[in-house]
Amino acid sequence: MAPTTTDTSVLGGKPSAILHRTPWRLPIAKHAEGIYIDLEDGRRVIDAVGGAAVACIGNGHPKVQQAIKDQVDKVSYVYNMQLSNQPAEALAQNLIASSQGAFELAGFVSGGTEAMESVIKLAIQYYADLGQPKRVNFIGRRLSFHGNSLATLSLSYHPARRALVTEHLDTTHFHHVSPAYAKRFQKPDETEEQYVERLRQELEDKFIALGPDTVIGFVAETVVGATTGVLPAPKGYFKAMKSIMSGMGRMGTLHAWESFGDGVKPDIQAVAKGLGGGYASIGAVLLSKKVADAIRDGSGFWKHGHTYQGQPIATATALAVQKVIEEENLLENIRTQGAYLESLLEKGLRGPNAIAAPYTFDIRGGGGFWGIEFDFTQAPSLDFKGTPFGLRVQARALELGLIIMGMTGGANVEGSQGDHILLAPAYNVRKEEVEKIAGIFVQSVEDVLREVIP
Ligand SMILES: *Cc1c(COP(=O)(O)O)cnc(C)c1O
Repeated sequence: MAPTTTDTSVLGGKPSAILHRTPWRLPIAKHAEGIYIDLEDGRRVIDAVGGAAVACIGNGHPKVQQAIKDQVDKVSYVYNMQLSNQPAEALAQNLIASSQGAFELAGFVSGGTEAMESVIKLAIQYYADLGQPKRVNFIGRRLSFHGNSLATLSLSYHPARRALVTEHLDTTHFHHVSPAYAKRFQKPDETEEQYVERLRQELEDKFIALGPDTVIGFVAETVVGATTGVLPAPKGYFKAMKSIMSGMGRMGTLHAWESFGDGVKPDIQAVAKGLGGGYASIGAVLLSKKVADAIRDGSGFWKHGHTYQGQPIATATALAVQKVIEEENLLENIRTQGAYLESLLEKGLRGPNAIAAPYTFDIRGGGGFWGIEFDFTQAPSLDFKGTPFGLRVQARALELGLIIMGMTGGANVEGSQGDHILLAPAYNVRKEEVEKIAGIFVQSVEDVLREVIP
């Protein structure tokens, strides 16, 4: 289509010059407010998953907009090896103060992968500072995701994301144990306690096989996100495993370990997505007293530097996002709305006469993070025509005006089976919006099922 004077599209029919990460052409967003996004083609869609569980207070919050404008007028950039800055210091204070005593120091980076990469290096530095250089091994879990760099992919075990670079991963220093996934891997004759004990024993055996004095740490997501579809661990798991984990309000408490980690506080924690709420590219590493003391008494500084570490506009923005969450009591709101969403999903997918009921394997999550897992092993006659169910539902939902995230490969450790969909609405989502999200979601699932049921 030729550009006209009224054409507001940026490409005017030209192909995109971005190297995109999808094989299909993406619609272009033009304006967004709250959970509503206006596209160039004139459609308005609802974002039910905050992008990738990122936009935790939606778009266009006036207080965050103002904070960004104010900071641009004050200081836009100083280099973190020469000068610190006010918003970075204030954000670190805020993160420490809201951690229930779990953390004493924060280090800033630009996103989740950088945060996890820094966690790996910080843990190495911790043992170097303690005078234990023989410690070189990390233990992660299968069906996990910790980032897209080579080290974080080595630590992760997400077969599809690792596929391209398998030859380049570090298999000497990164090792893996089983996921904590009761609904798939707890044996029929096992109680939950026995399952947790089996996982604990496996970790202990791994420590012993590697040599306990060579292990740096065990790394786990408190609640696994997109990889398996919002998967909390069975009760007592983190008490048994004691670990390094994730958060920032998504599970209805500021840190996921408060609600889903047996209250076990991690030694080191990486946070990103919800920290900047999508308004800024920012991640952080949080250090417990134990780790902070060792670094303070050892090197005395962080042996890790990035150009944009503690960038003033990013930190001012994240601070504004965190203040909005607190001042508007959004954790309570998302606990309430999340529970309501769960009840609507239960009714729509598993209630009497629900078309999806035979295929709905699990509805799980908490706060503003929900995973819906489907299973079609009992229905081999369904023909998905080569496109995984989750992607088909995602596409149908977009046609109906709803953004969701459909994934595959979470049901076995090879990553070759499984269909799950993620919902992660903004923490300030309203009741009637939850109803719309659930309604369109259930309809999308049903529409796709009607297409594939012979
Ligand atoms: C999103 C995510 C990452 C990667 O963060 P990016 O900001 O995409 O680099 C790593 N680990 C977990 C658990 C995540 O959810």
